[in-house]
Amino acid sequence: MKLFAVIGNPITHSISPILHNKAMLDLGLECSYSRFELSNGSDIISKFKALSLSGANVTVPYKEFALNLSDKVCDTAKAIGSANTLVLKNQKIYAYNTDADGFLKSIKDFKGIKKALVIGAGGTAKAISYILNKNDIEVCILNRSKHRFSDFINFRCYDWTDFKSEQFDIVVNTTSAGLKDDSLCTPIELLEQVLCDSQFAFDVIYGKKTPFLKLADKYNLTYKDGKDMLLFQAVLAFNLFFDNAFDEEKIEKSMREVLNLKL
Ligand code: NDP
Repeated sequence: MKLFAVIGNPITHSISPILHNKAMLDLGLECSYSRFELSNGSDIISKFKALSLSGANVTVPYKEFALNLSDKVCDTAKAIGSANTLVLKNQKIYAYNTDADGFLKSIKDFKGIKKALVIGAGGTAKAISYILNKNDIEVCILNRSKHRFSDFINFRCYDWTDFKSEQFDIVVNTTSAGLKDDSLCTPIELLEQVLCDSQFAFDVIYGKKTPFLKLADKYNLTYKDGKDMLLFQAVLAFNLFFDNAFDEEKIEKSMREVLNLKL
């Protein structure tokens, strides 16, 4: 039986096991997917091997360790600087990043996007700005502080003090503001200025309507939370585990059924 797991810390909240086990069951695969809490990121590869895993998903705070300690890294993960999927192939561990393409798939119904404002400058902002830029969408970064801007050398970056409002087709919140409280990702005046002139809004947080999405709704934007991004990064990781042997739509259908029950 092939074994898989999601590795991170904390990990009890992760719904990856539910998604992957459902798809494995529906596709008749003799596999099992569990969760593993790791206390030291530098142990990620030795744990992967000790658990005899065929593949793993990696979550906060170990995506950089996964990238740096793998045998081979795909170009997307290299460009973003983090990996969320590890796959064992011919005794070597390959690292991938499916967050970026998962995000892109989740906004496929948002047509005609040419210019995006990405709020936040952490790991998720890096993945999202990379994939938008790769798809010829102009990206501007807005963060509360400047200390992470060296990770975004190809982008225009602003903090709250030097940002001047302009027109964007989509505004993406990649911060964790609003996850556990009712805080907004930027001061409300800044956000109101951009939202009133935008068409789409996306929040990577899932399972709740954040203050950011409430404001987007107030300004009549078409908006989405991060549920589909979560779903599609899992679908893409699943197919990497099995060398693209399965129909993406079938995996998506299985995972979506169980995700809809959870969120
Ligand atoms: P990081 O810690 O790498 O970055 C967090 C960013 O958010 C930083 O830029 C930080 O600013 C900013 N920030 C944090 N709190 C606030 C706040 N209260 N107000 C304004 N800015 C704030 O986090 P990640 O990028 O790894 O994760 C961000 C979110 O994305 C998490 O909520 C995570 O759950 C979600 N996520 C969702 C996924 C999905 O599939 N839907 C996939 C991956 C992540 P500063 O630089 O000043 O500290």
